[in-house]
Amino acid sequence: MKIILLGAPGAGKGTVAKMLTKLDGSVQISTGDILRGAVQAGSELGKEAKGYMDRGDLVPDSLIMGIMGQRLLEDDCKKGFLLDGFPRTIPQAEALKALLTKLGIKLDMVVNIDVPRDVIFDRLCTRRTCENSACQAIYNIKSMPSKKEGICDKCGSAIVQRADETEEAIAHRLDTYNQKTAPLAGFYEKEGLLKTITGTSSDVVVAGVKKELGI
Ligand code: AMP
Repeated sequence: MKIILLGAPGAGKGTVAKMLTKLDGSVQISTGDILRGAVQAGSELGKEAKGYMDRGDLVPDSLIMGIMGQRLLEDDCKKGFLLDGFPRTIPQAEALKALLTKLGIKLDMVVNIDVPRDVIFDRLCTRRTCENSACQAIYNIKSMPSKKEGICDKCGSAIVQRADETEEAIAHRLDTYNQKTAPLAGFYEKEGLLKTITGTSSDVVVAGVKKELGI
């Protein structure tokens, strides 16, 4: 499947993407994960991106398109992909459209996961992430704690609160989302690709996608 997952930070895009990859081997591509990996590795990309990310600002479109232009050419994308956290601005959506046309790739749909702001805010404040950039497993101290406090169940690394998941940075990220990313719903509505699913359960979102795709 070739799907874009839209939705505010904390709407559950990553969880839904992981569940969908299990259905047909499509790959999850999270620009946030790629950028956090680059920051941890101390690469040029990471150095450029870090300040924006820590403040809860978007990284410039040119950097993101540089990453995605290469990523979508990789072999594992042939089976399909779930774009998680990209595109995030209208210029990114336009550049992606041009790129997909050039590569002869047609999207199946764009899923807009719609979750109330108070639920999102609470989820992000209590979310914790494995600090190992190759893992980045997600936990929640209220609803999905790790078996051993502070230690990742999957790889044994430390589980931390992301620098951009303080209350101040979260509020800023949600404002940025409303300003820059929410208009993408209208963009994809016009393209005839949008399917909005309202709900806080990832199972409900996945069921909606399966129904839409007839699988
Ligand atoms: P995420 O994990 O998707 O919430 O992304 C974390 C941070 O990475 C965001 O707050 C942005 O600073 C940056 N980021 C991720 N994806 C994008 C994108 N498509 N465009 C611009 N910045 C991005």
